[in-house]
Amino acid sequence: MPTILVLVDHADGVVRKTTTELLTLARRAGDPVAVFLGSGYESARETLAAYGATKVYVAESSDFGTYLVAPEAEVLAQIAATTEPAAILLPSSPDGKEIAGRLAVKLQSGIITDAVDIDADLTTTQSVFAAEYSVTSRVTHGTPIITVKPNSAAPEPAASTPEEEKVTVSISDTAKRATVVERSERETTGRPDLAEAAVVVSGGRGTGGDFGPVEALADALGGAVGASRAAVDSGWYPHAHQVGQTGQTVSPQLYIAAGISGAIQHRAGMQTSKTIVAVDKDPEAPIFAMVDFGVVGDLHTVLPRATEEITKRQG
Ligand code: FAD
Repeated sequence: MPTILVLVDHADGVVRKTTTELLTLARRAGDPVAVFLGSGYESARETLAAYGATKVYVAESSDFGTYLVAPEAEVLAQIAATTEPAAILLPSSPDGKEIAGRLAVKLQSGIITDAVDIDADLTTTQSVFAAEYSVTSRVTHGTPIITVKPNSAAPEPAASTPEEEKVTVSISDTAKRATVVERSERETTGRPDLAEAAVVVSGGRGTGGDFGPVEALADALGGAVGASRAAVDSGWYPHAHQVGQTGQTVSPQLYIAAGISGAIQHRAGMQTSKTIVAVDKDPEAPIFAMVDFGVVGDLHTVLPRATEEITKRQG
């Protein structure tokens, strides 16, 4: 079986769901071999084994957090040179895409970004023009480097006992030219990560800037908060929460859109959600054409009542 290298996306060893998706996709094309860069491998071991990694290259070094992503690209290229993988999969996060680009230059390989599917023969699918078209393509030069959007595959567990190989990290001075001087913590809301949440409640221009009812419903359901671009552009919610073509792609079990008309660019980021509910005061709002359940009404009335009812049922 060919080796498919998967770069592990993690925070101090806590593996993000995107990695379990990449391991699932990698299994279609060969043996998924994980590459863990950073610190906290002990915390990651169990998840990587549970999702079928046959081997893990472990390169633990604090340098990875110190010099932006150049060291990651360098070490990944070193591992690729010795393993000669059939492909390298990375998450379509800002860091993942930058590492992929640098890696493609180092390996003189073709690259495909933002794939939403990968076949056994490494043919990839990309969703373009607000998901109106699908493009299938293959890398024909070098080692295919593919970044995959979050929620592109349902993670499927496949227990394994991966072999572990420690990698001695040697990072060139060139890769150390940009140093992180300061980090500021993202707001800690206690809510799940938007891209990984099973429930997302999003607010749009219809909130009038008051996201209180949206956040309260999200909290009652244990979900994340999303926002339309109109809400983000108005300064009502941070861009990190924007759902859509120029925001995040989400695919939760339940997506609730409140005061969002359903523009094509918004739909591009949420249309694969399993159950879609919309609350909008305009019965002609385009969002109602794609929902499983629609409520015509003022979100400032409907959402608090839904929150109250859910909270009551939860006892
Ligand atoms: P509107 O379209 O103004 O809709 C507001 C809705 O709220 C209406 O249906 C209205 O009836 C309803 N409403 C008003 N008051 C209430 C109330 N009290 N209770 C209930 N309902 C109420 N958009 C995104 O969302 N994500 C993207 O990533 C994105 N990327 C884009 C990229 C490009 C290149 C372009 C050109 C556009 C992009 N857009 C994106 C913008 C997109 O075209 C729409 O402008 C935007 O999605 C509209 O946001 P909205 O639905 O919140 O606002």
